[in-house]
Amino acid sequence: MKIGGATLNPFIMLDSDSKIWLERRFKESVRFDESMSKHTSLWVGGTADAFVMPEKPEELVELIKWSRQNDIPYLVIGDGTNLLVKDSGIRGIVIILTRCLKRISKRDTGKDGIIVTALAGARMQALCSFAVKNNLKGMNFAIGIPGTVGGGVMMNSGTAHGLIKSVLDSIKILLPDGHIKIIMKENLNFDYRRLSLKDEVKEANQGRPIILGACFRLHPSDPHELQKDAEKKLKARKERQPRSLPSAGCFFKNPLSGKTAGELIDLAGLKGKSTGGAEISLKHANFIINKDRASASDILALIELVQETVSKKFNINLELEVKIVGQ
Ligand SMILES: Cc1cc2nc3c(=O)[nH]c(=O)nc-3n(C[C@H](O)[C@H](O)[C@H](O)COP(=O)(O)OP(=O)(O)OC[C@H]3O[C@@H](n4cnc5c(N)ncnc54)[C@H](O)[C@@H]3O)c2cc1C
Repeated sequence: MKIGGATLNPFIMLDSDSKIWLERRFKESVRFDESMSKHTSLWVGGTADAFVMPEKPEELVELIKWSRQNDIPYLVIGDGTNLLVKDSGIRGIVIILTRCLKRISKRDTGKDGIIVTALAGARMQALCSFAVKNNLKGMNFAIGIPGTVGGGVMMNSGTAHGLIKSVLDSIKILLPDGHIKIIMKENLNFDYRRLSLKDEVKEANQGRPIILGACFRLHPSDPHELQKDAEKKLKARKERQPRSLPSAGCFFKNPLSGKTAGELIDLAGLKGKSTGGAEISLKHANFIINKDRASASDILALIELVQETVSKKFNINLELEVKIVGQ
């Protein structure tokens, strides 16, 4: 592979010139060979060649343009609560937005409700708290979902009580060429735990966008009721989910009809099965937990076991909800 005239080892994306540029530009906000286990809720994963935490939005734009010009792949992540990073790590640059994009604000639009704008690096739980504190109804479905607003929007996160798509009004994105665009909800496609741009918008813009922020349409409500509802939902989550050990939430998508993925895994007799340090939770069969210094390979082996067993027993292919990244 040739980058900037130099031949690169395919397992190392960054040459010394690139490292020097990153170091000069980002100083203590860049780390090299950073273990991704520090940045994922599963606590597994190899190293990223570079890990950049831009302090200002302008730095992010500059980084994206530079990466593109130099053919260096980048991956924007949130809090890594839906990610399994492979043991061999991530070539190129991993970027987080939790330092440069974290503001949450609101504006009144009269009878159409209140628009709350949350930047991509803000925590989903900060957004839920902001809504409750400002007596706004609409976000309580997401109470307890970890991660950032950017990750939540990208994943169309949700619970049995609602989905991001139902409260979203528009998103602001950064395109690989450095342009910033606002895209209204009508031009977005939402699937189960997935958001994508409609084809006509995709063609016009080219490339995978970075979410910079999102606007949510919420409505005034009774503060006492909101608070009570939030507490009830949080308590129910804590009772259902294993919270004391590292996980990435539900690993598999629920089939469109019939039993949930968790029920199928339970019925297949897989609760408590383990590979290396990874285990299928006894509390919630759709959670794979890192019980004792698991590697990504341990978890990948469990995924294979679940998919094969459920397919053989029930003729159902369980699709992954968690995103697998890395080489
Ligand atoms: C204990 C636990 C409970 C959970 N419960 C739920 C639940 O009830 N419902 C639910 O839906 N999920 C749940 N999850 C999964 C996860 O929390 C959500 O999917 C969350 O929204 C992911 O946010 P994140 O910031 O961690 O994203 P990440 O995991 O960091 O990233 C997810 C994907 O989004 C992309 N991405 C992130 N930010 C951006 C951005 N700004 N621009 C472009 N792409 C971006 C990443 O590249 C990646 O592909 C749970 C996870 C855990 C650990």
